[in-house]
Amino acid sequence: MIIILNNDITKEEVIQLINKLTDLGLEYHQSNLGGRLLMAIPNAPKDFDLRQIQMLNGVHEVYQVTEPYKLASRRWKKEPTIIDVKGVKIGGNTLNLIAGPCAVENEDQIFEVAELLNRNNIKFIRGGAYKPRTSPYAFQGLRTEGLKLLRRAADAYNLRVVTEVMDLSLLDEVYEYADVLQIGTRNMSNFYFLSELGKIDKPILLKRGMSAKIPEWLMAAEYILSGGNEKVILCERGIRTFDDSVRNTLDVAAFPIIKELSHLPIFSDPSHGAGIRNRVIPMAMASIAAGADGLMIEVHTNPEKALSDGPQSLYPQQLEEMIDKLRPIAEVVNRSFDFDKVVVE
Ligand code: PEP
Ligand code: MN
Repeated sequence: MIIILNNDITKEEVIQLINKLTDLGLEYHQSNLGGRLLMAIPNAPKDFDLRQIQMLNGVHEVYQVTEPYKLASRRWKKEPTIIDVKGVKIGGNTLNLIAGPCAVENEDQIFEVAELLNRNNIKFIRGGAYKPRTSPYAFQGLRTEGLKLLRRAADAYNLRVVTEVMDLSLLDEVYEYADVLQIGTRNMSNFYFLSELGKIDKPILLKRGMSAKIPEWLMAAEYILSGGNEKVILCERGIRTFDDSVRNTLDVAAFPIIKELSHLPIFSDPSHGAGIRNRVIPMAMASIAAGADGLMIEVHTNPEKALSDGPQSLYPQQLEEMIDKLRPIAEVVNRSFDFDKVVVE
């Protein structure tokens, strides 16, 4: 159950409500999302008579939400969550493109990519400064230096920064440089970390755990939302299946399913979801057709020399080809790309 409180609820009314919940044996968790005061009631029985709460003073609306995730559910919030990142909207009718290399490698590389994105009117640059690598001997990212380069390149070309925060100990540092904080697939189940992300005011791009079921992914989002940060963007990046002919299996069904279950925007990362560059464009097209709100794409000006994920990184001309192929699909699904919109900066 979700209880939406009146914004001008009095202390006495809150006490009365809490007493009622306690009498009924119901637990409550108070949140403040988007200027709305809410209570999530995780243990309300399925057949609970909502009128018992609805009739109380100070209560605006009561919704039955039977799923274990409450705030992330669409049952109480039919309209899509729209997130503003420095004047660019994510969610709703907009489609966004986040592009950039897997990792920030050096100044020339990241400035070249930033210039390419700016030339195509793209609004978001990605690039890892701290990289989660399977091997401790692989390139780990330029770390602080990478964050600084990424920010400088973004500022020079009017881009917003999306970068991964790999660990809670790095949150303050990454927060300083990023506009959107990416949580990688390997951290989707790091619950303490997720609850700390609930305390910050910047958007979180939450990748799906590589073996997470959709409800588990929404529960991860719930950790962030219940901490008070409603700016959560889900990102499907492929899951592990029995089939090893792809690096990961991009779950295209996740887009309509998430739309059905949640009000949160959902992106697709067909680069990690496909693993090989020639499969990225078809998977990007399929994602937008299936309802994704945006894409995260790896692109490199010299992918043969990339320090990570070169084989799945698009060539610059492929990025432009992809945009051309996506335009008619966007039209069919009645959406328009942020790079085609006039944005007030
Ligand atoms: C990435 O985006 O570069 C990345 C490491 O993604 P994931 O966490 O999905 O593997
Ligand atoms: Mn990568």
